[in-house]
Amino acid sequence: MTVSPHVVVIGAGTLGMCTALNLVEQGARVTVLEAQSIASGSSGRSVGVVGSQLTDPFEIMLRVHSLRRFRQWEGEGLRFNHIGYLRLARTKAQMELFARSVEIQAEAGLRSRLVHANELMDLVPHINPDGLEGGLFGPDNGFLDPYEMCNFLARIVRAQGSEIRQYRKLLGAQRRTRGYRLETSHGPIDCDVVVNAGGAWAPQVAALFGQRLHIWPERHEAVVIHLDEPLGYTMPMVMDLVNGEGSGLNFRHEKPGELIAEIHKVNSIAPEDPDNYNDQCEEQSKVDLAELLLERVPDLPGARLGRGWAGLYPVTADHRPFVGPVDASEPTLITAAGAGGYGIQLAPVIGQIAADWVLHGAPVSVPGSQSLAPSAERNVPGH
Ligand SMILES: Cc1cc2nc3c(=O)[nH]c(=O)nc-3n(C[C@H](O)[C@H](O)[C@H](O)COP(=O)(O)OP(=O)(O)OC[C@H]3O[C@@H](n4cnc5c(N)ncnc54)[C@H](O)[C@@H]3O)c2cc1C
Repeated sequence: MTVSPHVVVIGAGTLGMCTALNLVEQGARVTVLEAQSIASGSSGRSVGVVGSQLTDPFEIMLRVHSLRRFRQWEGEGLRFNHIGYLRLARTKAQMELFARSVEIQAEAGLRSRLVHANELMDLVPHINPDGLEGGLFGPDNGFLDPYEMCNFLARIVRAQGSEIRQYRKLLGAQRRTRGYRLETSHGPIDCDVVVNAGGAWAPQVAALFGQRLHIWPERHEAVVIHLDEPLGYTMPMVMDLVNGEGSGLNFRHEKPGELIAEIHKVNSIAPEDPDNYNDQCEEQSKVDLAELLLERVPDLPGARLGRGWAGLYPVTADHRPFVGPVDASEPTLITAAGAGGYGIQLAPVIGQIAADWVLHGAPVSVPGSQSLAPSAERNVPGH
């Protein structure tokens, strides 16, 4: 790679912006091409939760890298709401996994603790603990506004002399002796390297280069809950999934007197067309959500459902992101996409890994992250 390559990043969502930031920090010249506006894709439709309450050591390690970055950005002015994250358990086996998570997180310097069923009401006074064994609580986790995050990163990227071109869509690509000539909606651009951070559109972007990328756009819905009065405590992010994965819901504080809830459905649904899907919450989903909420937090004061919306999770077959080249013989075309329901919290570490691939030809700064490359074994149809 040349000392200061010109890299074009396709997509100004969290993955594209974090990749751009990591690249400019290491001296690359970056142009971000965005078909619409900054954070107009999945990123702006997310509920912005950043958590580390997982049980797989590698997944926790990825979040350790991300959380380090979020802390740095918070120090530089990005708002981060440390409301805590409570993941509920219905079985003893799940509590055992959570106990192991507490150990792994402690080794990595993250605070978390087990909460037994009889202690849940200390954290969430309105919770109905029926059917629960307890939970895993991380007091430092929380949420941020992904629109704000992308624009915060955009300011840094621009201040370093790189560019973000909004309403400029990639339409085609030609390989040159070195790098690419990109056809866009506003004329051609030449560059050395391309990063495909197109989110749910990443397969379409890949196709412009003759590549096949298996990312499934999966529709998810969120709803605002209005309360008659503020709760008198801060509702942490509460993740209440039936089998630890699968169906259920999550909800969290948004502002005094307001929560946001997201509903998870089992075996979700057909792939969506990212250019033509229902971006509103369906009435039936609101009914389902109300039932689940009434079961878990039955006495929220005057709770009523407000505005809802839908967005897309870009999902891979194994539910882990793609970061790296699809084709090892073309190391100048890097994919950073497919982060599913975790593309806000994983974006900083994905951006770091993608920048490693661009500048060093391998993910040198994050141990084990070679396994996130979209290899032939992983880049397969899902569902
Ligand atoms: C309801 C909901 C709740 C969620 N909650 C959370 C959460 O709490 N925590 C979490 O971590 N994640 C959450 N997610 C997931 C998260 O939003 C996504 O994983 C993440 O936003 C994906 O980011 P991205 O940068 O890959 O894609 P996007 O944000 O979609 O960005 C891709 C961009 O590429 C642009 N683009 C596409 N094609 C082209 C082209 N040809 N030329 C130029 N530009 C192009 C698009 O316009 C788009 O802006 C949630 C998602 C939804 C829908």
